[in-house]
Amino acid sequence: METKITHIAVVTIPAFSHQASIVEFCKRLVHFHHNFHVTCIFTTIDSPPQATITFLQSLPPNIDYIFLPPINKQDLPKDVPLAVQIQHAVSKSLLSFHHALKSLCSSNNPLVALISDPFANETLEIAKEFNLLPYIYFPPSAMTLSLFLHLPTLHEEVSCEYKDHKGAIHIPGCLPIHGNDLPEHLDDRSSLSYELFLERSKRFSLAYGFLVNSFSAIEGERVSTLVEIGNKPVYLVGPVIQTGAIIEPKESDCMMWLENQTPKSVLYVSFGSGGTLSEEQVNELAFGLESSGQKFLWVFRAPNVSANALYLGASNDDPLQFLPDGFLERTKGQGLVVANWAPQTQILSHKSIGGFLTHCGWNSTLESIVLGVPMITWPLFAEQKMNAVLLTKGLKVALRPKFNDNGTAERKEIAEVIKELMLGEEGNEISQRIEELKYAAVAALKEDGSSTRALSQFISDIENFLRQQV
Ligand code: UDP
Repeated sequence: METKITHIAVVTIPAFSHQASIVEFCKRLVHFHHNFHVTCIFTTIDSPPQATITFLQSLPPNIDYIFLPPINKQDLPKDVPLAVQIQHAVSKSLLSFHHALKSLCSSNNPLVALISDPFANETLEIAKEFNLLPYIYFPPSAMTLSLFLHLPTLHEEVSCEYKDHKGAIHIPGCLPIHGNDLPEHLDDRSSLSYELFLERSKRFSLAYGFLVNSFSAIEGERVSTLVEIGNKPVYLVGPVIQTGAIIEPKESDCMMWLENQTPKSVLYVSFGSGGTLSEEQVNELAFGLESSGQKFLWVFRAPNVSANALYLGASNDDPLQFLPDGFLERTKGQGLVVANWAPQTQILSHKSIGGFLTHCGWNSTLESIVLGVPMITWPLFAEQKMNAVLLTKGLKVALRPKFNDNGTAERKEIAEVIKELMLGEEGNEISQRIEELKYAAVAALKEDGSSTRALSQFISDIENFLRQQV
């Protein structure tokens, strides 16, 4: 008897970290269940980033992909936050998305479900038109999902700006959080960013369920509250992290350099796929790294005051010219600076790495946990400050440096935090805790692990639904 193939589509946004996360999830889905076929639909601004193109070269045969016609960056509103630009690009792609869905639904193997990125959840309205089961794949934490689900209520309950709210904000099932640590889109409640965030949150009600890139040992306690407030199933299917291509040490300067360092001696410093620092902050960090006396590997970008300036594409400038005078000469032997991009998961898996100074993007956070690397949190934008709170106050696997009133971390503070993480008693305790989480992450993904069971439950829920339709 011919086996029936279940064809689903996923739709994602023009941001490498979201694309990589949803595609890795799809790989896990089809690996786990061979009768699934996935079509990934990419909304695009200008042209897809090189990192995405490289990443798509290693897909299994039961995953294919479509790039929707690109939206011209010139046609997007200027001087607005990146999230607003992305939201506009998605809205402008809806017509071509509709055409793509129509064609996939009339193929020999019609679609049965659509899984959307949270930023692309306008597409779920179109999914209903084609009778597709609508889901959201949520690349960030369950804590952030709780914020999304709770925001319409919070919006009614709190009248002032959240950062002026007296005392902590209570998001159901989560640690109390200060208004300053909420995503910056919520900073100004009269802004377009806020309005779009709120609309996006309200559209979560269109989904039948949420797949979340997290796992039970770090966020299992939130699931029952999430199910209660969202009134739909929540599947913790993570940690979904990038597997990527393995680069041989001899092919990459930084891997070769790591080969020559002592175990756990190097601090890896990186701010995600597009994070940048101001010129002043670059100087302070450079002097902080130098005076800490610790080995470091720094993925360095040209300074820019907009923290996520390069999210949609790399700059052509040679960034190393922006380092303080003489820094490279003085730190020769102590550190290595790599321009713009490095093979992160491979670096974090290297035995020489002993710490990660990270902007706390959720992918970087999970990669660090899965690979057992203690962290220093340096959140820049989006929900990263919430992740920093979870890592420092909740899971206690990171240290958070203090920033002064101008929002700058000063060199002395940086050096002290680095030394504490790499050499101090607190650093040692953090290492032990993260080692336990590393094993819990492996356990979650085993055949009988919590995340595998959640994925299996998701698949049976789809199959049961389809059986009822026959
Ligand atoms: N990444 C990488 N090399 C780099 C910078 C980033 O491979 O030099 C990858 C990193 O491993 C992670 C993703 O890009 O998978 C960044 O995602 P994250 O959620 O941490 O941050 P974002 O890019 O969304 O700010």
